[in-house]
Amino acid sequence: MIKVCKFGGTSMSDGTNIRRVRDILSLDAARRYVVASAPGKRYSGDSKVTDLLYEALDEVREGGHVGEAYAKVCERFRGIVRELDLSLDIDSMLEETAHAIEAEGTYDFAASRGEYLIGRIAAAFLGIPFIDARDTVKFDASGKLDGERTYALLREALKGKRKAVVAGFYGEDAEGRVKTFSRGGSDVTGAIVARAAGADLYENWTDVSGFLACDPRIVADPVGIKALSYRELRELSYMGANVLHSEAIFPVREADIPIQIKNTFRPQDEGTRILPVSKYVPSGRPVTGIAGKKHFTVIYLEKSLMNAELGFALRILEVLRRHNISFEHMPSGIDTLSFVIDSAELKYGVLDRVREEIVQAVSPDKIAVFDDVALIAVVGHGMNRQVGIAARLFQAIARVGVNVRMIDEGSSELNIIVGVNSEDYECTVRAVYEEFFKEEMPH
Ligand code: ADP
Ligand code: ASP
Ligand code: MG
Repeated sequence: MIKVCKFGGTSMSDGTNIRRVRDILSLDAARRYVVASAPGKRYSGDSKVTDLLYEALDEVREGGHVGEAYAKVCERFRGIVRELDLSLDIDSMLEETAHAIEAEGTYDFAASRGEYLIGRIAAAFLGIPFIDARDTVKFDASGKLDGERTYALLREALKGKRKAVVAGFYGEDAEGRVKTFSRGGSDVTGAIVARAAGADLYENWTDVSGFLACDPRIVADPVGIKALSYRELRELSYMGANVLHSEAIFPVREADIPIQIKNTFRPQDEGTRILPVSKYVPSGRPVTGIAGKKHFTVIYLEKSLMNAELGFALRILEVLRRHNISFEHMPSGIDTLSFVIDSAELKYGVLDRVREEIVQAVSPDKIAVFDDVALIAVVGHGMNRQVGIAARLFQAIARVGVNVRMIDEGSSELNIIVGVNSEDYECTVRAVYEEFFKEEMPH
């Protein structure tokens, strides 16, 4: 039995927590490979080491040398080494790292040093080998993970090692430069290591007792989710439930490795198990979870007989491609079509140009742009077996007086996505949660 354990930023944030990690590992001999995130926040208002490292590079770009932000990084790592009572020459490591950040000059390299340093420290503390992700996780020329090389290199590196620590979050690109995944990417490294090790389970240790039915920062103490299918996970994490990086599912799903989300601070809690649909037992509730994100722009188009007009959508997609804009959703009706785009893609007047070019390309009867829309996804395999779920959803939203700007009933029947004004986001999530989970809410 092999388990790969990924520990998130909060779990690695200080010496006390890293001792918890050691205790968790020592409870189960199958917990052989560890993937570590850079130290995160110790308390609200604290900084994540990764954020400080991005700032450190800003300082290099401004003044030629690392400055205050890097000094804070040093303080964090020195503190951890001291708390763990390690005889590691952390000062030399930090000095070398500073020179390397100045010399390499990229954000990816700077950010990756958080995982590199904590990986070295954790390996020394646990008394097991360290594997540098730069040597084992490889990206191809298009920037995608080079699975074939990565799995072969990792397998080779793990061979003969009963235990090891692998640095999360980064790898090396086709030109030999350090490249990171997007934020939260140590989850992806964990999944890759699980697959390379042929693990029976990928344990993802974080600061909550698994996936909750909605974001605990919006609803206090939401119901926990015991089991999720890979597909539900993908929908929820893509739509903003950032417990697990939305790309972490692919390596393990291909190899049929279940994921268990666990809480480092309450290891006795069961957490959430993520399985293929075929193996998972649904909760019996129509809705499994609710997730959402703010700050989208919706471009809404109406044209009679649009469906009969050949190439209508294609011409709009060409406009978007010309501006290098990707879209998140494309809900459609018989004579209507909308594009939902992350507002960050439409900065600096791009939206006005895109709108003009769409009008020229397809001459719609009506075009409207809603900016600052929040999307809320209601996800669950149970939804397609029960009538009236959509009606309950819209009634719940109407009851709190919120206007729905957009609806996308995914063709998978696994989710319904609604768009509301960003300012209505939190109250809509609370209303939807209450509708579908209220019988379990404490009174
Ligand atoms: P880590 O540093 O361990 O990777 P993250 O901060 O990436 O942890 O993810 C855990 C956090 O995700 C929780 O602390 C919680 O605030 C947030 N979160 C958002 N949506 C959910 C949800 N549906 N269930 C549980 N946690 C959620
Ligand atoms: N340290 C990185 C981040 O803060 C990666 C991770 O924690 O997964 O995004
Ligand atoms: Mg995370």
